[in-house]
Amino acid sequence: MTEQVSLPIHERYSLKELNTLAVESEAEYFAEPADRASLLSALAYARNHNLDVKVLGGGSNLVMREAVSGLVIRYQNAKLRLIEESSDHVLVDVGAGYSWHQFVLDALKRDWFGLENLALIPGAVGAAPVQNIGAYGVEVEQFIERVEGLYLSDSSPFSLKAEQCEFAYRESIFKQSLDGKVLITNVIFRLSKKAAVNTTYAPLEERARQEGQPSPMTLANWVMEVRQSKLPDPSVLPNAGSFFKNPIILKTHFDALKEEYPNLPGYPVDALSSEGEKSVKIAAGWLIDQLGFKGRSMGLIKVHDLQALVLVNMGGQGSDVLAAAHEIKQAVRQHYGICLEQEPRIFS
Ligand code: FAD
Ligand code: NAP
Repeated sequence: MTEQVSLPIHERYSLKELNTLAVESEAEYFAEPADRASLLSALAYARNHNLDVKVLGGGSNLVMREAVSGLVIRYQNAKLRLIEESSDHVLVDVGAGYSWHQFVLDALKRDWFGLENLALIPGAVGAAPVQNIGAYGVEVEQFIERVEGLYLSDSSPFSLKAEQCEFAYRESIFKQSLDGKVLITNVIFRLSKKAAVNTTYAPLEERARQEGQPSPMTLANWVMEVRQSKLPDPSVLPNAGSFFKNPIILKTHFDALKEEYPNLPGYPVDALSSEGEKSVKIAAGWLIDQLGFKGRSMGLIKVHDLQALVLVNMGGQGSDVLAAAHEIKQAVRQHYGICLEQEPRIFS
């Protein structure tokens, strides 16, 4: 590349260290802008060279193909700016490159509350709205005021209020109509200055019963402990977290399944289906576990011993991961008539 740009554009760049499944992958071109000017320069470069742009965060919710075409951009801006403060809340503007977990800890240190249950989720702030990250009964949409970024086609800015982001269970507009079209540069959060902890999920509820209601920082520590006891650390056992979403099925379907499988866990969903019927969320991990997949190896991919929703890569490629996922999906469909939806996005 001979053209002058204000940041390095790498050619044939390995992404193996940049995805938590640790699969071999090579980007045709790669850039890591850290500020808006160099981000604009990278986008202009892609336009001038007719390159597709692929946006990468922490690589923790992706299955990478061996070759990724176009320009992969990993926006590294990790600035945090307080933009409003009142007696009961703050508005804080956080750069897409800020580590999500670090943000949770930094917010707690300043007595900004709400994100405790989302501690230890890997990845960057810029990706949090993409699948509306959630854990232990809390979803990030509850704390998002606005999402800002740029259209990849012409670098024009957008700013979407939370109501416009079409947030749903592990879903948003960024996985739907804006998929592949924008880069989120920063997220504006509204956090409470009044502590109000959520201990509705069983392991947290149980501990609160034994030890009393926790402070927000204590709750975050409990969440970290439960996660560390159950989920594989990607730096030791490469994985992409839950590989399938928990299916939401009609209550009538759930009731029929429950007759056959009395232990099937189900959680009522507040929103009614498009036909106005009640729905139930069922645990995909339970379905997979019952079919005997937990701990099983499929070539170089292993279903985690402690959580059947997690696929661990023991040295395979992205295609091996997808093949194992396909086998699991087929078995679940054949056995229960339920079509599992893959959570990690394919990056190619
Ligand atoms: P990436 O994997 O890099 O990208 C994911 C998608 O978002 C891609 O489509 C990418 O193109 C897009 N994207 C990334 N950044 C941007 C941006 N700035 N602008 C536009 N698009 C962007 N998820 C949960 O919801 N709850 C959990 O509890 C949870 N636990 C996990 C535990 C483990 C051990 C692991 C490995 C994963 C877990 N995940 C969980 C999944 C994952 O961590 C989250 O989805 C996280 O938000 C992904 O962030 P990332 O920066 O790694 O995104
Ligand atoms: P778990 O506690 O074993 O529970 C299994 C499933 O049941 C969870 O996925 C959860 O759904 C659902 N569930 C449990 N209690 C519930 C309740 N009181 N109300 C509604 N639903 C309930 O789950 P886990 O695997 O250890 O994970 C704990 C939390 O971390 C979950 O919220 C999970 O989503 C999150 N997590 C997500 C990922 C990811 O990659 N997406 C990875 C690890 C952990 P929900 O998933 O809808 O919460």
